[in-house]
Amino acid sequence: MTIAEKILVVEDNPLNLELLRDILLAEGYDVIEASDGAAGIEIARLERPDLILMDLQLPGIDGFEVTRRIRADARLASIPIIAVTAHAMKGDDERARAAGCAAFVTKPIEVRELVAVVAESLRRRGSLDGGGGSA
Ligand code: MN
Repeated sequence: MTIAEKILVVEDNPLNLELLRDILLAEGYDVIEASDGAAGIEIARLERPDLILMDLQLPGIDGFEVTRRIRADARLASIPIIAVTAHAMKGDDERARAAGCAAFVTKPIEVRELVAVVAESLRRRGSLDGGGGSA
């Protein structure tokens, strides 16, 4: 039996959130959601997701800062975070990686690319777990 991996989507735009949810559910993941950065941090602490999709343009605390705060929390530090951004602003990729994102995806969301990046990030996390993650 396989337990579905749990993905937290932090996204303030309802249409993007719906799209990301539909894609991830179709892939068999469990999806939990937050529509701003503060809620994203709180839900990450409560739910310990396997992976986080992080919109960088959020009201209040932006996705870069949310990522830094999650990275700074020892209990959450190993969760891979994939940055999602509306338009490839010059330097966003580097900034996202510097903040602690494992990967970077641009909107408009390309379904196959997103699915591949999510699967790859989960696989890499599993291989770094030292075997403890699948128990
Ligand atoms: Mn946004």
